[in-house]
Amino acid sequence: MIKIKIADNIENIREVIEKAAIKSGRNPEDITLIGVTKTVNEELMKEAIETGIIDLGENKVQEITRKFEKLSDFDIKWHMIGHLQSNKVKYIIDKIHLIHSLDRLSLAKEIHKRAEEKDINVNVLLQINISEEITKYGLKSSEVFSFIEKLSDFNRIKIKGLMTMAPYTDNPEKVRYVFRGLKKLSEEIGSKKYKNVEMEILSMGMTNDYDIAIEEGATMVRIGTGIFNERKY
Ligand SMILES: *Cc1c(COP(=O)(O)O)cnc(C)c1O
Repeated sequence: MIKIKIADNIENIREVIEKAAIKSGRNPEDITLIGVTKTVNEELMKEAIETGIIDLGENKVQEITRKFEKLSDFDIKWHMIGHLQSNKVKYIIDKIHLIHSLDRLSLAKEIHKRAEEKDINVNVLLQINISEEITKYGLKSSEVFSFIEKLSDFNRIKIKGLMTMAPYTDNPEKVRYVFRGLKKLSEEIGSKKYKNVEMEILSMGMTNDYDIAIEEGATMVRIGTGIFNERKY
């Protein structure tokens, strides 16, 4: 019985990232691999960290706060990638490197308020619902411009880019349009030169479709299953 180790999984993923980047004329170093560690225990997380992964993504506030304490010896950039309830913002506001899931005004208000209390700025991505079918979360493309305008007084919030999730499919080519749509939207937003908005980051692509996402311009891919599902043969 051969156990596929986390380090081997990561090495394979890095190769795919490099190939997809080169295929589309991009520099592999411009793509950040985020290890998605939801439900993964700290021992396995350490294995990933030891291969050089420093960006970790979680979708639950309680899990971030617990793991933040337990892994405090490591230099980790924590990413909040899941739906964020406003009443929990205060627990992670000064622990998190990037919030990927800003999708409503009430949440923006709370982030701004808590950031002001701590005298910090907070980096966020706007979560966009391109396909409008799999999830109820995320702004529609048509809503995003007026949303950004409403955020203009929240000077503690720095919008760094966009995030989306594609529907699951057994043929990732079918969701290429989602990634292409997010890239196009980010260019449109970028050209407007909004205050506090820089379209540097495109967080798109998961285990099933990250190569396609990279070909379409992803700068962050969020990978869980591909890293942590240890397969045994
Ligand atoms: C779980 C999750 C991922 C990782 O998905 P995998 O298919 O396991 O790679 C990425 N992004 C978000 C928002 C998630 O919730």
